Amino acid sequence: MKGKVYLVGAGPGDYKLLTLKGLECIRKADVIVYDRLANINYLKEAKKGCEFINVGKASSHHLLPQDQINRLIADKALEGKIVTRLKGGDPYVFGRGGEEGELLKAEGIEFEVVPGVTSAIGGLCYAGIPITHRDHASSFHVITGHLRKDGKENPEINWNALANMKGTLVFLMGVSNLKNISENLIKEGMSKDTPVAFVSWATRYNQRVVTATLEDAYEVAIREEVKPPTLIVVGTVVNLRDTLNFFEKKPLFGKSIMVTRSRSQNSKLVERIMDLGGNPIEIPTIKIEKVQDNKELENEIKNLKDYTYLVLTSKNGVDIFFDKLDEMGLDCRALANIKVCSIGATTSKAIIRRGIKPDIQPEKAVGESLYDELKDIVNKEDNVLKATDKVLIPRAKNAREFLVKKLNEISNVTEVVTYESVMDDSKKEEAINALEEGNLDYITFASSSTVTNFINLIGEENKDKLSNTKIISIGKITTKTILDNGLEVYKESEKASIESMIEAMSE
Ligand code: SAH
Repeated sequence: MKGKVYLVGAGPGDYKLLTLKGLECIRKADVIVYDRLANINYLKEAKKGCEFINVGKASSHHLLPQDQINRLIADKALEGKIVTRLKGGDPYVFGRGGEEGELLKAEGIEFEVVPGVTSAIGGLCYAGIPITHRDHASSFHVITGHLRKDGKENPEINWNALANMKGTLVFLMGVSNLKNISENLIKEGMSKDTPVAFVSWATRYNQRVVTATLEDAYEVAIREEVKPPTLIVVGTVVNLRDTLNFFEKKPLFGKSIMVTRSRSQNSKLVERIMDLGGNPIEIPTIKIEKVQDNKELENEIKNLKDYTYLVLTSKNGVDIFFDKLDEMGLDCRALANIKVCSIGATTSKAIIRRGIKPDIQPEKAVGESLYDELKDIVNKEDNVLKATDKVLIPRAKNAREFLVKKLNEISNVTEVVTYESVMDDSKKEEAINALEEGNLDYITFASSSTVTNFINLIGEENKDKLSNTKIISIGKITTKTILDNGLEVYKESEKASIESMIEAMSE
């Protein structure tokens, strides 16, 4: 059985500059072979168990040579696997995609190529430079600056033509050959005053643009320490940058923001930070561990007809409960005669997604409020939560006692543990290192428990490292926990919401 290979252009770096087709290929891959210019965050989209092979570590001296990469891809496909080869930009723009495809063809391996946004065009765009413009350039030329090492002129490059076409010139891989490039262009008649831009890490939060003229380009690049990956742009379109630069004007452009995460709500925060040009660094603090093979839950589900109330107190609790129903061949109709109670809006949303409208949901998402609602039912004569009522509460281990205890006083409660929140230390080192390096602009806390969990994660002994970073708090209660830990709050958001936190940072 032969597998299949997708040669996929991953775009220039901005996470959202990937095609839908590219994303599909990432999601279905058994193996992903990627190099340093492809945004590694895409790997998060891969399916469980997908193998990741990095063939382009910039710092490594053991960078895999192209023929070995070709071989590797072919071998994986010959094992019957779906291989997605992720390349920065477009696979055919100095990406050696052609060579990879040729080998696959020779081996009889099926393949498809998915184009990507090349840095040569998209990277310029994010620097505010349109590659063509009716007043400036009616053609463009994308050239490799990776010239022959022996210094002899590369016969494939016609400098005379390039210097006189009046089109925009974009050199890729050109930093180490800059002197050669500018000298050749001037020698062949291009004006010394022609604007030049160096665009490094284009479309990423750390994009940096340096401008010069053809004459002083080399000097400026040395002085400003321009390093690869950089696009060298030559042409008067560079002058439009002042007007068309939208990306670097975004309110969080260039900012690195650590997002401490314990619940799904933070994906919105991450998303917004990216939209506003910032670099979110996600650090999960806790993870959910489901009780495996939960016989107790199965038993209670078998006895559902004896229950009159089901109380759900978290989204996780909802998902685990309904997944179990499904696993047992049941669906929401099993709850037809039961009153379903939700602790709050997020939990209700999850219940509604399973086809049920909760009968009861208090305004404030706390145990006390839910108890108050249920207690009131006791007082309504036609609808009484009686001593004979049986209440099922599937929920987390070590959840607060309050609700179960109080409801037990007026009815008959069965609590089933369905999951546990445990520390997630998968990113512990990354978090500590980032705090130590001091390159973070902000760290956000969106709940009191994330403060505690985060400190537990990094360890009391590392707590002081947090004082290097500006702390953003979502609201009063969270602020109190931060202060109680001997830390300072740089800014508290006005309203206790993610959007308000974003505003606080943007200001
Ligand atoms: N296939 C890629 C190019 C690969 S060659 C594409 O279509 O974009 C590698 C060179 O591309 C780098 O040396 C650099 O010159 C350029 N490059 C790629 N991504 C870049 C980025 N985000 N910022 C600046 N230059 C980039």
